[in-house]
Amino acid sequence: MYAKVIVDIPARPTDRPFDYDVPPELADCVEIGSRVEVPFGPRVLHGFVVGLAEQPPEGLDPGKMRALRRVLDLTPPLTPELVRLAAWMSAKYLCPATAALQVMVPAALKAKYDRVVVLREDVWAQRQAKQEQETLVPDPLRLELAEWLRRKGGATAEALLEKFPGSAPQLKSMLDEGVLEEVQRVQDRMAVKTALTVFPLLPEAELRAAMDAVPARAQKQKDVLAFLLENGLEPIRLSELTQRLDITPSVVKSAAGKGWIELREVEVQRDPYANRSYKRTAPLPLTAEQQAVYDTISGALDAGRHEVFLLQGVTGSGKTEVYLQTIKRCLELDKEAIVLVPEISLTPQMVERFKGRFGDDVAVLHSRLSHGERYDEWRRIARREVRVVIGARSAVFAPFTKLGLIIIDEEHESSYKQEESPKYHARDVAIRRAGEAGAAVVLGSATPSLESVFAALPDGGSRFKLLEMRTRALGRPLPPVRVVDMRAELKGGNRSMFSVPLHKAIAERLHKKEQIVLLLNRRGYATFVMCRTCGYVSGCPHCDIALTYHQSSRTLRCHYCGYAERERTACPDCGSEHIRHFGTGTQRVEEELVKLFPGIRVIRMDVDTTTEKGAHEKWLTMFGNKQADVLLGTQMVAKGLDFPDVTLVGVIAADTVLNLPDFRSAERTFQLLTQVAGRAGRHVLPGEVIVQTYTPEHYSIAAAAGHDYEAFLATELEHRRANGYPPYSRLINITLSHEEVPKLLRLSEALALKLKELAAEARNRGEGGAAFEVLGPVASPIARIKDRYRFRCMVKYRGDSAASRIVRQAVDAFAEHVAKEKLQISVDVDPQLLM
Ligand code: ADP
Ligand code: ZN
Ligand code: ZN
Repeated sequence: MYAKVIVDIPARPTDRPFDYDVPPELADCVEIGSRVEVPFGPRVLHGFVVGLAEQPPEGLDPGKMRALRRVLDLTPPLTPELVRLAAWMSAKYLCPATAALQVMVPAALKAKYDRVVVLREDVWAQRQAKQEQETLVPDPLRLELAEWLRRKGGATAEALLEKFPGSAPQLKSMLDEGVLEEVQRVQDRMAVKTALTVFPLLPEAELRAAMDAVPARAQKQKDVLAFLLENGLEPIRLSELTQRLDITPSVVKSAAGKGWIELREVEVQRDPYANRSYKRTAPLPLTAEQQAVYDTISGALDAGRHEVFLLQGVTGSGKTEVYLQTIKRCLELDKEAIVLVPEISLTPQMVERFKGRFGDDVAVLHSRLSHGERYDEWRRIARREVRVVIGARSAVFAPFTKLGLIIIDEEHESSYKQEESPKYHARDVAIRRAGEAGAAVVLGSATPSLESVFAALPDGGSRFKLLEMRTRALGRPLPPVRVVDMRAELKGGNRSMFSVPLHKAIAERLHKKEQIVLLLNRRGYATFVMCRTCGYVSGCPHCDIALTYHQSSRTLRCHYCGYAERERTACPDCGSEHIRHFGTGTQRVEEELVKLFPGIRVIRMDVDTTTEKGAHEKWLTMFGNKQADVLLGTQMVAKGLDFPDVTLVGVIAADTVLNLPDFRSAERTFQLLTQVAGRAGRHVLPGEVIVQTYTPEHYSIAAAAGHDYEAFLATELEHRRANGYPPYSRLINITLSHEEVPKLLRLSEALALKLKELAAEARNRGEGGAAFEVLGPVASPIARIKDRYRFRCMVKYRGDSAASRIVRQAVDAFAEHVAKEKLQISVDVDPQLLM
């Protein structure tokens, strides 16, 4: 057999499959998706198998081919379907194939440790019992393997094959049956967690006899045996046993010394949700609008038809209930479902709703889990122990094989785009994956992205099917929104950050003991340090960006390169002592609130207060228990929260995003205001929203205040069309960086020229390249990072698949400069952030 392998060097010259000979002893365990170790030049590298063939590749002499050295796992971490998806990602996002493959596997697997095969004793015992019942003759090699692994506690695939030559078929079948499992070697905190566990060694009658024979002075040992007998000889954790019987571990160990019981390390699953119980909830009877949506989606599910639905439902319309019931339908059809939610709204409330409906059938993947916890959840998916995954962006790569449905909640969120290589968008990946699997996709939002809405319009090719829910499920009206002009406030002599109406509304809620959500958009309120005497701002010496003040360590840090310095007491420029940090915006708001409303109880949620694990959950629980009057925070408080006593939502400054030089600013402002407004008056008590702004006339603010998505859409689409922005065009952002400006400028101009040449050639040959524009080069908005200057060229094109090819060719033409002159080029297809 011969294998095609993508090696783990994320660079252009090695970005293709290399051919290897598969030695006969490995032939049974190499599959598409396997991780392997291969010789590569003088080095030994890891790689993924992406193709297998019986015949040697044409034109290659099999005698001269190098051979795979070993297989890193007996069960491939990737499915063939995911391997194909990676190839598509590499072509679409112009990233190395290895980057696309690596992003699909959990971080714990990327560690340079071996995986070991372990025996799952419970499964093995069941199998044995079944075999006995059916009086089958056991395969002696299987028995030997199992016994050896039980004694050793685990071994690498390599060691097993060496110890039991020719056992690959047995190993494979035992893995398939779940008797064996591959886990990361127990070597660091990422690895599998184990606990000492007590196992009875004797059958019941003998154990009872042993217990009766224990002398009275060893009463505690007697208790141990009695306990095991009473509990049907079930194994029990040592820690639990000692606690229950109030004995020391030494008692148990001496019982083990007598040969009655034994103590072994057994794997414990780290379930981050283990010590919480979820109230099981039954499906709610659907409203008419929900039912219509449900019927349409389940039509596609039942038919096994790939279709993309854009579910536009106002906040509180009950989208989540629709998700839950369509997933249920999907499970009834014996298919699996992936639910993507933005990291920020992967709140305990959200998890609870899914766990409450599907219990142990759900795995949760979010970045606040440790590597080990994520790895455990991932294995539950790979072992088919769950059929529903809920997670942030990368959960789109869950290794399911019977995918029926992918749901993307808040589909407009920018966090679905990964900003480092591979710069993929989870929405596009989901649609591609679902297309291959014949699965349905549901994109849900109250404020869908312009791209998605456009795709549902005839102009955009009607690629998505629009489903609408216009009323709230509980019949509550959307809250009235009052826009307050802060310029008028200032003119009237109010210099506070709270307008008179917002001040009054807060006082009223405090009086009535209702709750308040206050939003302050973090961006725009930098946490920089400035000298009040001369205006000096502490900047990073390596990047063109202000340093950020970190309260906990009292340091100033650069968010781009990690440079840090101590807080200053005097201005380095003029020596003045009036140098101070402008605390995070939220911190200032909190100070002001406490000053204006003595005794007010504020929970502040921002990057500073939520870094600690579980902090999110803690704050939200406290707020839910009414231990605070105000929940104050950044975008975190805008999404997905559902608290019945919140009757006032205040937005401190609506324009902070609006002023950013990005064509999506208006869209982001509209989305954020609509989301946060949706937190008010969701249940019985009516709600009210107050938005403070310096530009009340702006259409995004006016439309959000009127809950008028159509008005916003019409104006924004017209604006995009007039300026040729997406969705009427597509963009590819190419960033070049170098240490020297003159060289960078020269190379950037050469690249722009090359792009134009290639487009002209393509046009002449009739191979696309129409409406292909190159903008720039210009300096990037952040002109220097890590002592490297940055320029960008923006490619703007229309519905033309030749564009990626042209960009790839142009970038390839500069490979020499990249290799020899330390030029760096990074490509962002469909960029979300233009800053
Ligand atoms: P969305 O996700 O669209 O903002 P939610 O799914 O959070 O809305 O639903 C809003 C509220 O309505 C929740 O409290 C939810 O329990 C309730 N709800 C949703 N559907 C129904 C229904 N069919 N019957 C009763 N209550 C419902
Ligand atoms: Zn100064
Ligand atoms: Zn820096």
